[in-house]
Amino acid sequence: MGLLDIVKKAAFVDILRGMSVTGTYFAVDKVTVEYPKEKLQPYPRFRGAQALLTDPATGDTKCVACMLCATMCPSQCIYIVGEQTPDGRSRPARFDLDLSRCVFCGFCEEVCPEAAIVMTQRYELATYDKSDFLLTKEKLLANQAWVHKELHRLEPNDRGEG
Ligand code: SF4
Ligand code: SF4
Repeated sequence: MGLLDIVKKAAFVDILRGMSVTGTYFAVDKVTVEYPKEKLQPYPRFRGAQALLTDPATGDTKCVACMLCATMCPSQCIYIVGEQTPDGRSRPARFDLDLSRCVFCGFCEEVCPEAAIVMTQRYELATYDKSDFLLTKEKLLANQAWVHKELHRLEPNDRGEG
């Protein structure tokens, strides 16, 4: 240990330097929040749990059971059974999404030609019950409560913009 180091130690230089850094951060605005008491608003294109959107014209889901999302999903976690309505529309009789396998890539949202499936702002997905990860058609429709308002305005084939 050199003379300079001994002087530095005697004068508590390192401690004073550390305290000056701490003091600096007392004065600046904090960037953290006290989760879960405080929550941040995710960005509009945040990729949380999916939702199926309802078509205001029919009151039914916009999904036409084309199977494109299920085909494109890299995790193969979407299972759809289609059906025809009496007025000739196609829709999913069953639409299951296994969230425990989903990698939140957003491909299902991007490829959907009807803008029927979207990624929502819902990010609190922890659960003690594995069955909660199975999103049925009913649960996916209920997830519309977490859809950012911008996505409700999207028309078919609007994906990829913004
Ligand atoms: S976000 Fe990706 S992994 Fe998850 S369901 Fe959609 S396509 Fe599949
Ligand atoms: S791609 Fe869209 S319309 Fe086709 S099955 Fe999936 S959610 Fe339904």
